Amino acid sequence: MDIVLTGDRPTGRLHVGHYVGSLKRRVEMQNSGAYDKMYVMIADAQALSDNADNIDKVKNSISEVMLDYLACGLDPKKVTIFIQSEVPELCELSFYYMNLVTLSRLERNPTVKNEIALRGFKQSIPVGFLTYPISQTADITAFKANLVPVGEDQLPMLEQAREIVRSFNTLYAPVLVEPKAVLPSNEKCSRLPGLDGANKMSKSLGNCIFLAYSADEVKQKVMSMFTDPTHLRVEDKGHTEGNPVFIYLDAFATDEHFSAFLPEYQNLSELKAHYERGGLGDMKVKKFLNQVLEAEFGPIRERRQQFAKDLPVPELLNILHQGSIEARKTAAQTLDEVKTAMGINYHK
Ligand code: ATP
Ligand code: MG
Repeated sequence: MDIVLTGDRPTGRLHVGHYVGSLKRRVEMQNSGAYDKMYVMIADAQALSDNADNIDKVKNSISEVMLDYLACGLDPKKVTIFIQSEVPELCELSFYYMNLVTLSRLERNPTVKNEIALRGFKQSIPVGFLTYPISQTADITAFKANLVPVGEDQLPMLEQAREIVRSFNTLYAPVLVEPKAVLPSNEKCSRLPGLDGANKMSKSLGNCIFLAYSADEVKQKVMSMFTDPTHLRVEDKGHTEGNPVFIYLDAFATDEHFSAFLPEYQNLSELKAHYERGGLGDMKVKKFLNQVLEAEFGPIRERRQQFAKDLPVPELLNILHQGSIEARKTAAQTLDEVKTAMGINYHK
């Protein structure tokens, strides 16, 4: 039995990092039909853990994320797309799981540590933020998901989830399923860097190419991208390692893109070799990257615009509400099994 669950925090629109890191795989899985059930969650409650003072941002991002999903090809008829806060059973599960995790274990989670530093929380970490790996475990286990398509930043969350599942199953009864991360097959896609060269493109860092960007916006972002700071003149030798322009090409460019837009090179290895020996300017590489991105994301942008016209916000929310009603049934069933396993289903 393969059950798939993933989600996104509605802290803004989705970007090309989300696409290659997770969304693309979800759509492929959906279309292959090689799974028994698939859930996609818009994690509004988790988004509030570092946005308690910014409810509007989270609220408005729910429909934006839904438009991104539809544009990328997720189909609410095939997968259950729902809103986290509309499934209150998830809170109840988290409440019991909290007793299975120590504070020091949470504080050691490298992704949470990094996110705390980035957000500058210092000593004022919201408890909900520190504990979000626990609530994420509830999200995954409530649906007995065994496959979770995610980017690399989520590996520590999955490790934490497996630990909680093992503790629960050992202490009470084996009702929970250990989840496994499904990373992108192209390693460069598991953590796409930001436009600024920061180690992750992230909504919260403002270094993104959003799926909703116009062709002009994408071009302007690409042309102003950080490259190799030692590559000052065209004839200088350049570095491709750690250079975000080349990392993006690793993530997106195919040999077909070369024959269509840059036929003087057969493939990326040839382009890299030229850059490294000198004589290839950044502008030419960026122009090619922009064409590659347009080929991949132009159709997504157009579908997004069409969906935005056809489905006003209340309709988008209504699709999500229907999904949430369905998701809730499964979560309630798991909660019931969890309480029985713990021996706290007193009136049964
Ligand atoms: P926030 O800054 O609010 O945390 P985010 O951009 O990190 O936003 P999330 O909603 O936390 O986005 O992540 C959603 C999914 O996208 C996760 O599976 C995550 O691993 C993946 N993901 C996020 N950023 C990237 C990236 N730069 N490269 C690859 N995958 C990514
Ligand atoms: Mg994140």
